[in-house]
Amino acid sequence: MSNQAIQTQASCRDDYDPESLSVAAALQRIDNEIVPVPGREQVALRAALGRILAETVYSPIDVPAHTNSAMDGYALRSEDLPTEGVARFCLLAGSSFAGRPFPGVVGPGECVRIMTGAVMPEGADTVVMQEHAEVQGQWLRIDGGYRLGENVRAAGEDLRRGQAVLSSGTRLQPAALGVLASLGVAEVSVRRRPRVAFFSTGDELRSIGESLGPGDIYDSNRYTLYGMLQRLGLEAIDMGVVRDRREELQAAFREAGEQADALITSGGVSVGEADFVKETLGTLGRVSFWKIAMKPGRPLAFGRIGESLFFGLPGNPVSVMVTFYQFVQPALRRLMGERDPTPVLVPARLTERLRKRRGRTELQRGVLSRDESGALCVRSTGEQGSGILSSVSRANCFIVLPEESTGGEPGATVQVQPFDGLV
Ligand code: AMP
Ligand code: MG
Repeated sequence: MSNQAIQTQASCRDDYDPESLSVAAALQRIDNEIVPVPGREQVALRAALGRILAETVYSPIDVPAHTNSAMDGYALRSEDLPTEGVARFCLLAGSSFAGRPFPGVVGPGECVRIMTGAVMPEGADTVVMQEHAEVQGQWLRIDGGYRLGENVRAAGEDLRRGQAVLSSGTRLQPAALGVLASLGVAEVSVRRRPRVAFFSTGDELRSIGESLGPGDIYDSNRYTLYGMLQRLGLEAIDMGVVRDRREELQAAFREAGEQADALITSGGVSVGEADFVKETLGTLGRVSFWKIAMKPGRPLAFGRIGESLFFGLPGNPVSVMVTFYQFVQPALRRLMGERDPTPVLVPARLTERLRKRRGRTELQRGVLSRDESGALCVRSTGEQGSGILSSVSRANCFIVLPEESTGGEPGATVQVQPFDGLV
Protein backbone atom coordinates (compact mmCIF):
# COMPACT_ATOMS: atom_id res chain seq x y z
CA MET A 1 0.00 0.00 0.00
CA SER A 2 1.21 3.46 -0.81
CA ASN A 3 0.22 6.71 0.82
CA GLN A 4 0.73 8.65 -2.32
CA ALA A 5 -2.36 10.58 -3.50
CA ILE A 6 -3.99 9.43 -6.72
CA GLN A 7 -3.24 11.67 -9.67
CA THR A 8 -6.57 12.45 -11.26
CA GLN A 9 -7.35 14.18 -14.51
CA ALA A 10 -9.90 16.87 -15.18
CA SER A 11 -13.17 15.29 -16.24
CA CYS A 12 -16.46 16.52 -17.59
CA ARG A 13 -17.93 16.13 -14.09
CA ASP A 14 -15.68 18.86 -12.68
CA ASP A 15 -17.16 22.32 -12.56
CA TYR A 16 -13.99 24.30 -12.57
CA ASP A 17 -10.90 23.40 -14.49
CA PRO A 18 -8.13 25.96 -14.71
CA GLU A 19 -6.94 24.48 -18.01
CA SER A 20 -10.25 24.81 -19.76
CA LEU A 21 -11.09 27.45 -22.30
CA SER A 22 -14.02 29.83 -21.76
CA VAL A 23 -16.82 29.80 -24.34
CA ALA A 24 -15.93 33.37 -25.35
CA ALA A 25 -12.23 32.55 -25.80
CA ALA A 26 -13.05 29.48 -27.92
CA LEU A 27 -15.44 31.50 -30.07
CA GLN A 28 -12.76 34.14 -30.57
CA ARG A 29 -10.11 31.60 -31.57
CA ILE A 30 -12.46 30.00 -34.06
CA ASP A 31 -13.53 33.36 -35.42
CA ASN A 32 -9.90 34.34 -36.04
CA GLU A 33 -9.55 31.40 -38.42
CA ILE A 34 -12.60 31.94 -40.60
CA VAL A 35 -12.71 33.74 -43.91
CA PRO A 36 -15.76 33.55 -46.18
CA VAL A 37 -15.60 31.03 -49.01
CA PRO A 38 -14.41 32.55 -52.25
CA GLY A 39 -16.65 32.20 -55.24
CA ARG A 40 -20.02 33.63 -56.04
CA GLU A 41 -22.80 32.89 -58.44
CA GLN A 42 -25.59 34.78 -60.11
CA VAL A 43 -29.00 33.31 -59.19
CA ALA A 44 -32.62 34.14 -60.01
CA LEU A 45 -34.53 35.90 -57.27
CA ARG A 46 -36.52 32.91 -55.95
CA ALA A 47 -33.41 30.74 -55.83
CA ALA A 48 -31.73 33.41 -53.70
CA LEU A 49 -33.93 32.72 -50.64
CA GLY A 50 -31.67 31.90 -47.68
CA ARG A 51 -28.52 32.64 -49.65
CA ILE A 52 -25.92 35.24 -48.65
CA LEU A 53 -25.57 38.36 -50.78
CA ALA A 54 -22.06 38.65 -52.21
CA GLU A 55 -22.46 42.32 -53.23
CA THR A 56 -24.34 45.30 -51.89
CA VAL A 57 -27.45 46.00 -53.96
CA TYR A 58 -28.10 49.64 -54.90
CA SER A 59 -31.51 50.76 -56.01
CA PRO A 60 -31.70 51.27 -59.78
CA ILE A 61 -34.91 53.33 -59.38
CA ASP A 62 -36.84 55.55 -56.98
CA VAL A 63 -39.36 53.58 -54.89
CA PRO A 64 -42.11 54.44 -55.29
CA ALA A 65 -41.31 55.51 -58.80
CA HIS A 66 -44.17 58.06 -58.89
CA THR A 67 -45.81 60.25 -56.31
CA ASN A 68 -49.09 58.44 -55.61
CA SER A 69 -52.12 58.26 -53.38
CA ALA A 70 -52.09 56.29 -50.11
CA MET A 71 -55.91 56.25 -49.95
CA ASP A 72 -59.06 56.03 -52.00
CA GLY A 73 -60.38 59.61 -52.14
CA TYR A 74 -60.06 62.89 -53.99
CA ALA A 75 -56.89 64.61 -55.21
CA LEU A 76 -56.84 68.40 -54.95
CA ARG A 77 -54.59 71.44 -54.39
CA SER A 78 -53.63 72.20 -50.80
CA GLU A 79 -53.98 75.99 -51.42
CA ASP A 80 -57.73 75.39 -51.78
CA LEU A 81 -58.13 73.62 -48.42
CA PRO A 82 -60.34 75.53 -46.01
CA THR A 83 -58.71 76.71 -42.76
CA GLU A 84 -62.18 76.76 -41.24
CA GLY A 85 -65.71 76.09 -42.38
CA VAL A 86 -66.50 74.07 -45.48
CA ALA A 87 -65.06 74.35 -49.01
CA ARG A 88 -66.56 73.21 -52.28
CA PHE A 89 -64.61 71.63 -55.13
CA CYS A 90 -65.63 70.96 -58.68
CA LEU A 91 -65.37 67.21 -59.35
CA LEU A 92 -63.70 66.63 -62.71
CA ALA A 93 -64.85 63.87 -65.01
CA GLY A 94 -62.55 60.85 -65.00
CA SER A 95 -60.42 59.23 -62.32
CA SER A 96 -56.86 58.27 -61.51
CA PHE A 97 -56.58 54.51 -61.03
CA ALA A 98 -53.50 52.47 -60.09
CA GLY A 99 -51.80 51.82 -63.42
CA ARG A 100 -54.15 54.20 -65.26
CA PRO A 101 -53.27 57.80 -64.43
CA PHE A 102 -55.65 60.74 -64.88
CA PRO A 103 -54.51 62.46 -68.08
CA GLY A 104 -55.64 65.99 -67.18
CA VAL A 105 -54.59 68.74 -64.78
CA VAL A 106 -56.27 69.63 -61.50
CA GLY A 107 -56.82 73.38 -61.47
CA PRO A 108 -57.79 75.79 -58.66
CA GLY A 109 -61.02 74.77 -56.95
CA GLU A 110 -61.06 71.40 -58.72
CA CYS A 111 -60.63 67.81 -57.59
CA VAL A 112 -60.51 64.34 -59.13
CA ARG A 113 -61.39 60.85 -57.93
CA ILE A 114 -58.21 58.87 -57.07
CA MET A 115 -57.52 55.32 -55.90
CA THR A 116 -54.78 53.89 -53.66
CA GLY A 117 -51.52 53.58 -55.56
CA ALA A 118 -52.68 55.79 -58.43
CA VAL A 119 -50.33 58.50 -59.72
CA MET A 120 -51.08 61.98 -58.37
CA PRO A 121 -52.47 64.08 -61.22
CA GLU A 122 -50.61 67.18 -62.27
CA GLY A 123 -51.56 70.16 -60.13
CA ALA A 124 -52.78 68.12 -57.13
CA ASP A 125 -50.64 67.63 -54.00
CA THR A 126 -53.09 66.35 -51.38
CA VAL A 127 -55.65 63.54 -51.07
CA VAL A 128 -58.77 63.74 -48.92
CA MET A 129 -60.11 60.31 -47.91
CA GLN A 130 -63.44 59.47 -49.47
CA GLU A 131 -64.90 58.85 -46.00
CA HIS A 132 -64.19 62.50 -45.11
CA ALA A 133 -65.82 64.05 -48.16
CA GLU A 134 -69.40 64.59 -49.19
CA VAL A 135 -70.34 64.33 -52.87
CA GLN A 136 -73.31 66.19 -54.25
CA GLY A 137 -73.57 65.76 -58.00
CA GLN A 138 -70.63 67.58 -59.57
CA TRP A 139 -69.53 69.01 -56.23
CA LEU A 140 -67.39 67.78 -53.38
CA ARG A 141 -67.65 69.33 -49.92
CA ILE A 142 -64.99 68.99 -47.24
CA ASP A 143 -64.34 70.74 -43.96
CA GLY A 144 -61.08 72.02 -42.42
CA GLY A 145 -58.19 70.27 -40.72
CA TYR A 146 -56.30 68.82 -43.70
CA ARG A 147 -52.59 69.27 -44.31
CA LEU A 148 -50.54 69.78 -47.44
CA GLY A 149 -49.43 66.37 -48.79
CA GLU A 150 -51.85 64.39 -46.67
CA ASN A 151 -52.37 60.77 -47.87
CA VAL A 152 -49.71 61.18 -50.54
CA ARG A 153 -46.65 58.93 -50.92
CA ALA A 154 -43.77 60.86 -52.43
CA ALA A 155 -41.65 59.37 -55.21
CA GLY A 156 -38.46 57.93 -53.65
CA GLU A 157 -39.78 58.10 -50.07
CA ASP A 158 -39.09 54.36 -49.55
CA LEU A 159 -35.82 54.18 -51.50
CA ARG A 160 -33.88 56.69 -53.56
CA ARG A 161 -32.21 55.67 -56.80
CA GLY A 162 -28.55 54.81 -56.03
CA GLN A 163 -29.24 54.16 -52.36
CA ALA A 164 -27.78 50.98 -50.78
CA VAL A 165 -30.73 48.67 -50.19
CA LEU A 166 -29.27 45.37 -48.97
CA SER A 167 -25.65 45.10 -47.98
CA SER A 168 -23.20 42.40 -48.87
CA GLY A 169 -23.31 39.60 -46.27
CA THR A 170 -27.09 39.74 -45.77
CA ARG A 171 -28.97 36.44 -45.56
CA LEU A 172 -31.86 36.91 -47.96
CA GLN A 173 -35.20 36.51 -46.21
CA PRO A 174 -38.66 36.77 -47.80
CA ALA A 175 -38.83 40.55 -47.22
CA ALA A 176 -35.53 40.98 -49.06
CA LEU A 177 -36.88 39.06 -52.07
CA GLY A 178 -39.88 41.40 -52.08
CA VAL A 179 -37.70 44.49 -51.87
CA LEU A 180 -35.51 43.26 -54.74
CA ALA A 181 -38.60 42.49 -56.82
CA SER A 182 -39.93 46.00 -56.12
CA LEU A 183 -36.73 47.31 -57.70
CA GLY A 184 -37.15 45.14 -60.76
CA VAL A 185 -34.02 43.15 -59.86
CA ALA A 186 -34.27 39.70 -61.45
CA GLU A 187 -30.95 38.16 -60.33
CA VAL A 188 -28.49 38.69 -57.52
CA SER A 189 -24.91 37.74 -56.83
CA VAL A 190 -24.68 35.34 -53.87
CA ARG A 191 -21.84 33.46 -52.22
CA ARG A 192 -21.14 29.90 -53.21
CA ARG A 193 -22.68 27.47 -50.73
CA PRO A 194 -19.87 25.89 -48.70
CA ARG A 195 -19.59 22.09 -48.88
CA VAL A 196 -19.67 20.59 -45.42
CA ALA A 197 -18.84 16.91 -44.95
CA PHE A 198 -19.73 15.05 -41.78
CA PHE A 199 -19.32 11.58 -40.36
CA SER A 200 -19.79 9.74 -37.09
CA THR A 201 -17.08 7.73 -35.41
CA GLY A 202 -17.60 4.72 -33.19
CA ASP A 203 -17.53 0.92 -33.40
CA GLU A 204 -20.88 0.77 -31.58
CA LEU A 205 -22.76 2.76 -34.24
CA ARG A 206 -25.23 1.19 -36.62
CA SER A 207 -27.17 2.89 -39.37
CA ILE A 208 -30.95 2.77 -39.59
CA GLY A 209 -31.98 -0.49 -41.25
CA GLU A 210 -29.17 -2.49 -39.67
CA SER A 211 -29.91 -4.72 -36.71
CA LEU A 212 -28.40 -3.93 -33.34
CA GLY A 213 -25.89 -6.36 -31.83
CA PRO A 214 -25.02 -6.35 -28.12
CA GLY A 215 -23.84 -2.87 -27.11
CA ASP A 216 -24.71 -1.34 -30.47
CA ILE A 217 -26.71 1.86 -30.85
CA TYR A 218 -28.22 3.66 -33.79
CA ASP A 219 -26.29 6.62 -35.10
CA SER A 220 -28.42 9.69 -34.37
CA ASN A 221 -25.78 12.40 -34.66
CA ARG A 222 -25.70 12.22 -38.43
CA TYR A 223 -29.39 13.01 -38.49
CA THR A 224 -29.25 16.02 -36.16
CA LEU A 225 -26.19 17.27 -38.04
CA TYR A 226 -27.95 16.79 -41.36
CA GLY A 227 -30.93 18.79 -40.06
CA MET A 228 -28.83 21.60 -38.64
CA LEU A 229 -26.69 21.90 -41.79
CA GLN A 230 -29.68 21.73 -44.10
CA ARG A 231 -31.43 24.53 -42.24
CA LEU A 232 -28.33 26.69 -42.64
CA GLY A 233 -28.51 26.29 -46.40
CA LEU A 234 -25.18 24.53 -46.85
CA GLU A 235 -24.31 21.67 -49.11
CA ALA A 236 -24.15 18.78 -46.64
CA ILE A 237 -22.14 15.67 -47.54
CA ASP A 238 -23.00 12.65 -45.41
CA MET A 239 -19.95 10.36 -45.18
CA GLY A 240 -21.64 7.77 -42.97
CA VAL A 241 -20.12 5.97 -40.01
CA VAL A 242 -16.38 5.50 -39.73
CA ARG A 243 -15.06 2.73 -37.47
CA ASP A 244 -12.50 3.49 -34.80
CA ARG A 245 -9.65 2.23 -36.98
CA ARG A 246 -6.60 4.21 -37.90
CA GLU A 247 -6.67 3.47 -41.64
CA GLU A 248 -10.42 4.04 -42.00
CA LEU A 249 -10.28 7.31 -40.12
CA GLN A 250 -7.29 8.53 -42.06
CA ALA A 251 -8.93 7.74 -45.38
CA ALA A 252 -12.13 9.55 -44.34
CA PHE A 253 -10.24 12.61 -43.10
CA ARG A 254 -8.23 12.72 -46.30
CA GLU A 255 -11.29 12.39 -48.51
CA ALA A 256 -13.16 15.14 -46.61
CA GLY A 257 -10.11 17.40 -46.70
CA GLU A 258 -10.05 17.11 -50.48
CA GLN A 259 -13.70 17.70 -51.27
CA ALA A 260 -15.17 19.84 -48.51
CA ASP A 261 -14.77 23.38 -47.19
CA ALA A 262 -15.42 22.07 -43.69
CA LEU A 263 -15.60 18.72 -41.95
CA ILE A 264 -17.60 17.93 -38.83
CA THR A 265 -17.17 14.67 -36.95
CA SER A 266 -18.83 13.41 -33.80
CA GLY A 267 -17.29 11.17 -31.19
CA GLY A 268 -13.75 10.20 -30.44
CA VAL A 269 -12.55 13.45 -28.91
CA SER A 270 -12.96 12.58 -25.23
CA VAL A 271 -9.98 11.65 -23.04
CA GLY A 272 -8.57 8.32 -24.18
CA GLU A 273 -10.24 8.34 -27.57
CA ALA A 274 -8.80 11.76 -28.35
CA ASP A 275 -5.27 10.38 -28.44
CA PHE A 276 -6.30 8.07 -31.21
CA VAL A 277 -7.94 10.78 -33.33
CA LYS A 278 -5.10 13.15 -32.50
CA GLU A 279 -2.57 10.73 -33.81
CA THR A 280 -4.60 10.08 -36.94
CA LEU A 281 -4.86 13.80 -37.59
CA GLY A 282 -1.24 14.55 -36.79
CA THR A 283 -0.08 13.85 -40.31
CA LEU A 284 -3.02 15.42 -42.13
CA GLY A 285 -3.57 18.75 -40.50
CA ARG A 286 -3.24 21.14 -37.66
CA VAL A 287 -5.83 20.51 -34.97
CA SER A 288 -6.12 21.64 -31.33
CA PHE A 289 -8.01 19.65 -28.74
CA TRP A 290 -9.77 21.90 -26.27
CA LYS A 291 -11.54 21.44 -23.01
CA ILE A 292 -14.26 24.05 -23.01
CA ALA A 293 -15.68 25.45 -19.76
CA MET A 294 -19.16 24.49 -20.91
CA LYS A 295 -21.77 21.94 -19.96
CA PRO A 296 -22.58 19.91 -21.92
CA GLY A 297 -19.94 19.66 -24.60
CA ARG A 298 -16.60 19.95 -22.91
CA PRO A 299 -14.24 18.36 -25.44
CA LEU A 300 -13.96 20.01 -28.82
CA ALA A 301 -11.34 19.69 -31.52
CA PHE A 302 -10.83 22.53 -33.93
CA GLY A 303 -8.38 23.24 -36.72
CA ARG A 304 -7.70 22.39 -40.31
CA ILE A 305 -7.29 19.27 -42.38
CA GLY A 306 -5.54 20.45 -45.50
CA GLU A 307 -7.50 23.54 -46.48
CA SER A 308 -10.73 22.41 -44.82
CA LEU A 309 -11.94 23.64 -41.46
CA PHE A 310 -12.34 20.85 -38.97
CA PHE A 311 -14.71 20.58 -36.01
CA GLY A 312 -14.44 17.44 -33.92
CA LEU A 313 -17.56 17.36 -31.73
CA PRO A 314 -18.13 15.11 -28.74
CA GLY A 315 -20.15 11.93 -29.28
CA ASN A 316 -23.01 12.52 -26.87
CA PRO A 317 -26.07 13.47 -28.91
CA VAL A 318 -26.99 16.49 -26.77
CA SER A 319 -23.39 17.71 -26.70
CA VAL A 320 -23.33 17.51 -30.48
CA MET A 321 -26.28 19.85 -30.77
CA VAL A 322 -25.05 22.24 -28.09
CA THR A 323 -21.52 22.52 -29.45
CA PHE A 324 -22.84 22.80 -32.99
CA TYR A 325 -25.13 25.69 -32.12
CA GLN A 326 -22.59 27.49 -29.93
CA PHE A 327 -19.44 27.08 -32.00
CA VAL A 328 -19.99 25.49 -35.39
CA GLN A 329 -23.05 27.36 -36.55
CA PRO A 330 -21.63 30.87 -36.06
CA ALA A 331 -18.41 29.74 -37.76
CA LEU A 332 -20.26 28.21 -40.72
CA ARG A 333 -22.40 31.32 -41.08
CA ARG A 334 -19.21 33.37 -41.32
CA LEU A 335 -17.78 30.85 -43.77
CA MET A 336 -20.94 31.33 -45.84
CA GLY A 337 -20.15 35.04 -45.88
CA GLU A 338 -22.83 36.19 -43.46
CA ARG A 339 -22.00 39.47 -41.80
CA ASP A 340 -23.36 39.19 -38.27
CA PRO A 341 -24.01 35.59 -37.25
CA THR A 342 -24.36 36.17 -33.50
CA PRO A 343 -27.32 34.17 -32.16
CA VAL A 344 -30.18 36.08 -30.55
CA LEU A 345 -30.44 36.13 -26.74
CA VAL A 346 -33.66 37.19 -25.06
CA PRO A 347 -34.40 37.66 -21.36
CA ALA A 348 -37.08 35.44 -19.82
CA ARG A 349 -38.40 34.87 -16.31
CA LEU A 350 -37.71 31.53 -14.64
CA THR A 351 -40.83 29.71 -13.50
CA GLU A 352 -38.84 27.24 -11.44
CA ARG A 353 -35.60 26.96 -9.57
CA LEU A 354 -32.47 26.08 -11.57
CA ARG A 355 -29.34 24.81 -9.91
CA LYS A 356 -25.84 25.21 -11.26
CA ARG A 357 -22.31 25.43 -9.89
CA ARG A 358 -19.91 28.21 -10.73
CA GLY A 359 -17.10 27.58 -13.21
CA ARG A 360 -18.65 26.80 -16.57
CA THR A 361 -21.24 28.05 -18.96
CA GLU A 362 -24.26 25.78 -18.86
CA LEU A 363 -26.80 25.37 -21.63
CA GLN A 364 -29.93 23.81 -20.25
CA ARG A 365 -32.74 22.77 -22.52
CA GLY A 366 -35.79 24.94 -21.87
CA VAL A 367 -39.38 25.56 -22.85
CA LEU A 368 -40.09 29.19 -23.57
CA SER A 369 -43.67 30.39 -23.35
CA ARG A 370 -45.75 33.39 -22.29
CA ASP A 371 -47.35 33.89 -18.91
CA GLU A 372 -50.86 35.32 -18.33
CA SER A 373 -49.56 38.87 -18.79
CA GLY A 374 -47.85 37.99 -22.08
CA ALA A 375 -44.30 38.18 -20.67
CA LEU A 376 -41.73 35.55 -21.73
CA CYS A 377 -41.10 32.86 -19.16
CA VAL A 378 -39.05 29.69 -19.26
CA ARG A 379 -38.79 26.33 -17.54
CA SER A 380 -36.29 23.54 -17.92
CA THR A 381 -37.21 20.33 -19.79
CA GLY A 382 -36.13 18.42 -16.69
CA GLU A 383 -33.49 15.73 -17.16
CA GLN A 384 -30.37 17.47 -18.49
CA GLY A 385 -28.02 14.51 -19.06
CA SER A 386 -25.95 14.89 -22.19
CA GLY A 387 -27.22 11.62 -23.62
CA ILE A 388 -30.90 12.51 -23.26
CA LEU A 389 -31.64 13.67 -26.78
CA SER A 390 -35.39 13.56 -26.25
CA SER A 391 -34.97 16.49 -23.83
CA VAL A 392 -33.77 18.60 -26.77
CA SER A 393 -36.71 17.54 -28.90
CA ARG A 394 -39.08 18.69 -26.14
CA ALA A 395 -37.24 22.03 -25.83
CA ASN A 396 -37.63 25.17 -27.90
CA CYS A 397 -34.68 27.08 -26.46
CA PHE A 398 -31.41 26.91 -24.58
CA ILE A 399 -31.27 28.57 -21.18
CA VAL A 400 -27.79 30.12 -21.16
CA LEU A 401 -26.33 30.22 -17.67
CA PRO A 402 -22.96 32.03 -17.65
CA GLU A 403 -19.80 30.73 -15.93
CA GLU A 404 -20.26 32.77 -12.74
CA SER A 405 -23.99 31.96 -12.41
CA THR A 406 -25.21 29.67 -9.64
CA GLY A 407 -28.61 29.14 -11.25
CA GLY A 408 -31.68 31.08 -10.22
CA GLU A 409 -34.83 31.16 -8.14
CA PRO A 410 -38.34 31.31 -9.61
CA GLY A 411 -38.90 34.87 -10.87
CA ALA A 412 -35.24 35.50 -11.70
CA THR A 413 -34.40 36.70 -15.21
CA VAL A 414 -32.20 34.46 -17.36
CA GLN A 415 -30.97 34.73 -20.95
CA VAL A 416 -32.50 32.37 -23.46
CA GLN A 417 -31.51 31.39 -27.00
CA PRO A 418 -34.68 30.47 -28.92
CA PHE A 419 -34.07 27.59 -31.35
CA ASP A 420 -35.88 29.51 -34.08
CA GLY A 421 -33.35 32.30 -33.70
CA LEU A 422 -30.50 29.86 -34.29
CA VAL A 423 -30.92 29.75 -38.04
P1 AMP B 1 -17.47 9.31 -27.60
O1 AMP B 1 -17.29 10.81 -27.57
O2 AMP B 1 -17.10 8.72 -28.91
O3 AMP B 1 -16.80 8.68 -26.44
O4 AMP B 1 -19.03 9.07 -27.42
C1 AMP B 1 -19.70 9.49 -26.25
C2 AMP B 1 -21.06 8.83 -26.17
O5 AMP B 1 -21.87 9.26 -27.27
C3 AMP B 1 -21.04 7.33 -26.23
O6 AMP B 1 -22.06 6.86 -25.37
C4 AMP B 1 -21.38 7.03 -27.67
O7 AMP B 1 -21.97 5.77 -27.83
C5 AMP B 1 -22.35 8.12 -27.99
N1 AMP B 1 -22.31 8.41 -29.41
C6 AMP B 1 -21.16 8.66 -30.13
N2 AMP B 1 -21.47 8.87 -31.42
C7 AMP B 1 -22.81 8.75 -31.52
C8 AMP B 1 -23.72 8.88 -32.61
N3 AMP B 1 -23.30 9.16 -33.84
N4 AMP B 1 -25.05 8.70 -32.37
C9 AMP B 1 -25.47 8.43 -31.11
N5 AMP B 1 -24.67 8.31 -30.06
C10 AMP B 1 -23.35 8.46 -30.24
MG1 MG C 1 -16.63 6.83 -29.67
